[in-house]
Amino acid sequence: MYKSILVPIDLAHSDVGQAIIKRASALADNNASITLLHVIGDIPSYAQSYLPEGQLQENLEETTKALKALSDAINVEAQAVVRYGSPSPVILDEAVERGSDLIIIASHHPGIKDYLMGSTASRVVRHADCSVLISR
Ligand code: ADP
Repeated sequence: MYKSILVPIDLAHSDVGQAIIKRASALADNNASITLLHVIGDIPSYAQSYLPEGQLQENLEETTKALKALSDAINVEAQAVVRYGSPSPVILDEAVERGSDLIIIASHHPGIKDYLMGSTASRVVRHADCSVLISR
């Protein structure tokens, strides 16, 4: 059904992430690509100078491993990508860069049932050029 699916995942809620990876797998064409994306909040440049050398790269590698472990645990073939920045613009840019035809995103943090949609999810659904599936 879809050829290039982008799955943004907040690693603070990895159980939610795993549920949306399963949905992506169910909606993927044969030979489709599934990309898992976690966005780490930008670290201000003044703070970066206090970090030990190589720390940012190490964070990136550890986070990529954690992301990949989510899909491996449920036997779904997916690529893990980690970027620094603000979640919604990074998600939108990544979708354009990859030519994604579907973004699957959770509606909000688990447990915040009063809100219709979280801030990242609502920005993505408002501005994406491709289809967006909001997973509740
Ligand atoms: P809330 O505003 O309730 O925190 P969000 O809209 O931020 O809810 O989160 C909903 C979904 O957006 C998450 O489950 C995830 O799919 C995506 N998301 C949120 N933050 C990130 C992030 N840092 N990296 C990747 N995806 C994210």
